[in-house]
Amino acid sequence: MTQAVCFKCGDMKHGAFTDCPHCGGRPVTDDELVLSLAMTDHYFDLTTMKQMGAAVAEGKPPNLDEKSRQDLLKQLENARKTPVGRLLGDGILAPKKKKADGGPFKKG
Ligand SMILES: [Zn+2]
Repeated sequence: MTQAVCFKCGDMKHGAFTDCPHCGGRPVTDDELVLSLAMTDHYFDLTTMKQMGAAVAEGKPPNLDEKSRQDLLKQLENARKTPVGRLLGDGILAPKKKKADGGPFKKG
């Protein structure tokens, strides 16, 4: 399961886009979704996530730099295009393995 920080209260929860069991908050806007996506164990270790959560709880959510924001927005768009992405469940944002064309492990 993906460990994530609630964008609203800073509590830890499972899955970036799930309802927070603590405050019931769920990301809806792009900004909220991007922030929720950023604050997962896909990108940060648990220690950093807890620091982010503490900052969120203080009403000071971390600011994403513009490049990270754009990257995450793209991932969101891609996720939304898939039927599974509509459910915004867990695991859809795992790093993609790129097919190597003519790589060292080519068959034949
Ligand atoms: Zn919450």
